[in-house]
Amino acid sequence: MPDVKNWQINRPMYYPYEEHHPRRQFAFVFNINRCIACQTCTMACKSTWTFSKGQEYMWWNNVETKPYGGYPQHWDAKVLKLLDEANPNGQTWSDGTFDGQTIFEAARKHYDADGHKVALGYLPADEEWRAPNFSEDVSTAYVGGALGLSKEGVSLPEHKTWFFYLQRICNHCTYPACLAACPRKAIYKRPEDGIVLIDQERCRGYRKCVEACPYKKSMFRGTTRVSEKCIGCYPRLEGKDPLSEGQPMETRCMTACVGQIRLQGLVKIGANGEWEEDRYNPLYYMIRVAKVALPLYPQFGTEPNGYYIPPRWVPRDYLKQMFGPGVDHAIETYQVPDRELLAVLQLFRKSQKIVFRYEIKEGPKVFEAERFGKKFELFNDTIIAYGQEGQELFRTTVEEPIHVRDPRHSNSV
Ligand code: SF4
Ligand code: SF4
Ligand code: SF4
Repeated sequence: MPDVKNWQINRPMYYPYEEHHPRRQFAFVFNINRCIACQTCTMACKSTWTFSKGQEYMWWNNVETKPYGGYPQHWDAKVLKLLDEANPNGQTWSDGTFDGQTIFEAARKHYDADGHKVALGYLPADEEWRAPNFSEDVSTAYVGGALGLSKEGVSLPEHKTWFFYLQRICNHCTYPACLAACPRKAIYKRPEDGIVLIDQERCRGYRKCVEACPYKKSMFRGTTRVSEKCIGCYPRLEGKDPLSEGQPMETRCMTACVGQIRLQGLVKIGANGEWEEDRYNPLYYMIRVAKVALPLYPQFGTEPNGYYIPPRWVPRDYLKQMFGPGVDHAIETYQVPDRELLAVLQLFRKSQKIVFRYEIKEGPKVFEAERFGKKFELFNDTIIAYGQEGQELFRTTVEEPIHVRDPRHSNSV
């Protein structure tokens, strides 16, 4: 197999399958700093797609508390351990390039003799799937502090005792391990939006995808004896939801988000398989220009299409293991946002329709301060969001408007 280009690890990479690039790619940004773990996203997906017999333990969307939580239990610690064993010199980066071996490269080295494994992985035991919220709200303990708590408590840049919420769905990866591992060729990536689907007719339930997916987002259903996974709510993307008026609409888990932490969209992919420049697409801007949102475990090598604004209070080494070497820049950028980033952050959850382009109309300066040693200025700009056909979807301002209710009607519904 020829090497493929993986921009997240900044080098060519061995991938044991023919690469297929879509014209547009399903992608999303989750702002971890704002999540309140209400699990509304989890229930939105569950009540739409996985409420049937045999799907009781199937949570295509889950929100887990890090560092101890995980669904299935300890999924990332287990994959990281396997990767550590395959990378005796550590999972290290130099100048933005991953020096170690990805799950595909490590499998080629260690398992090629029997040819049965295309990716380093493991099959979780049944009991590891039994609950999506183990260790919810459990923080790390502070060694030496009474009750494991630190007297200094919660001061930035790093809290002494900490946890954070990690929101997870299938990443509809550019180089999916699930797809490469399927001996039935039952998994495919849609050319129109890059969504990765399992053909339920072709699947025979061998669970090779469950074993190979490093994010453990392919799941086996006991009643049908085949595997299932997040379908990216593709009928909504196709504009088939009655509410969508024929326009591409964000998924159920995105639009239900109470904390307004999620923004989903479609990014343009060129003929060479790389992202095309699309400067005023909000995802392109946050991921490729501002570099404020980072991929989850880029060293795995699947080039996931889910991106995260990392939590500001968490020890940096932990975050760098999870999101790669861009963590310091992302946090510095997010905590003192410039004028454009502040405007783009207002796009989150203002509409159920997918935003393809934004435009900023400048407004007056309304605030100024010093934050983290830098000058911070707040302008009350207006940001206008456009849809697929270039039509205006909505416009909003950086300063949230305050609506004062008439006191005579304060109790009315
Ligand atoms: S996250 Fe896992 S299931 Fe989803 S596309 Fe990537 S490898 Fe496949
Ligand atoms: S995109 Fe749709 S199918 Fe996938 S986790 Fe979200 S709600 Fe579920
Ligand atoms: S709905 Fe939003 S805020 Fe609530 S848990 Fe999900 S991602 Fe977090």
